[in-house]
Amino acid sequence: MRNRMDFSELHWLLAIVQSIDVGIVVLDLECQVQVWNSFMENRSGVQSKDAIDRSFFELFPEVDQEWFSRKLGRVVALGTPAFTIWKQRPYLVRFKNYQPITGQGEFMFQNTTLLPLRSSNSEIHHVCLVIYDVTDVAINSQALQGANAQLQHLSRTDHLTQLYNRGHWEQSVELAYHRQSHGMSLVMLDIDHFKSINDRYGHPAGDAVIRQVSTLIRQHVRAGDVAGRYGGEEFALLLPHTDHDGACKLAERLRQAVEQQEVIHQGQSIRFTISLGVASLDRPTQDHRCLIGWADQALYASKHAGRNRVSSYTG
Ligand code: GH3
Ligand code: MG
Ligand code: MG
Repeated sequence: MRNRMDFSELHWLLAIVQSIDVGIVVLDLECQVQVWNSFMENRSGVQSKDAIDRSFFELFPEVDQEWFSRKLGRVVALGTPAFTIWKQRPYLVRFKNYQPITGQGEFMFQNTTLLPLRSSNSEIHHVCLVIYDVTDVAINSQALQGANAQLQHLSRTDHLTQLYNRGHWEQSVELAYHRQSHGMSLVMLDIDHFKSINDRYGHPAGDAVIRQVSTLIRQHVRAGDVAGRYGGEEFALLLPHTDHDGACKLAERLRQAVEQQEVIHQGQSIRFTISLGVASLDRPTQDHRCLIGWADQALYASKHAGRNRVSSYTG
């Protein structure tokens, strides 16, 4: 009676293995296929009778043989399962993605498990490979990650110039301020008589001038510098690895570049200048806002002294 139960249980188990919606492959230690369920048949197009006793690597040449054999060896030696998730490797075997909802992925994302199979004498001569289709999860997760990255970009970026906005620039200054005690400078700059550019040539021309200044700024800063649009026609540079002298040189080069620049808007040539202020972390300060205030004071010193010049905060 008990034997009959065992026999039907075996049948049930086989039926379950056949119909379950995950890939089941049993491999011997030479990686020859011993069991191949209908999921594998449907997804690979290879019938069970044609897969049995064939090499797994011959059936799936895309599998990294060295990596897989090492993993399988470890499962057999330790007698414990091993898992691989799609974030480590998008897939083990390349199957087309037929998911109706998430039609955008061209292949099936997979999580895989390698299970050691013990025979009745407890030895491990076979391993069961389980392949889960996680395409839905992977595509949703990637879409979410992309949306988050885009949101973060939007929340930091000034729309007109694509420089950082004031909020992110100030945050960067605060971070840099807490990271270092010297060798850091700020440059604030403002377009001279910008109102009259708007009045004379129109608001779109003013926008073109603002964009041109941002382009020149991008051309003058180094990797690691943080350039932001501080307000309407005011910009701010954080130079984390530049001393006062270096910052003044950069400011002067930028001033000259703007002076030599011509913006052509609707056939009209627009010339303009900027005023700049430089402050450096070379004396004690209360906080990062204090340093920003110094750069702002230096900028206004340039304005008062007649514009189109660079001034330093002298305390
Ligand atoms: P100063 O030399 O003292 O800096 O004079 P100014 O005319 O440049 O200074 P002010 O700060 O008084 O003028 C700034 C003007 O910039 C006022 C505002 O209408 C204009 N503005 C602010 N944001 C934008 C923008 O995005 N596009 C355009 N076209 N104009 C802007
Ligand atoms: Mg101005
Ligand atoms: Mg201004």
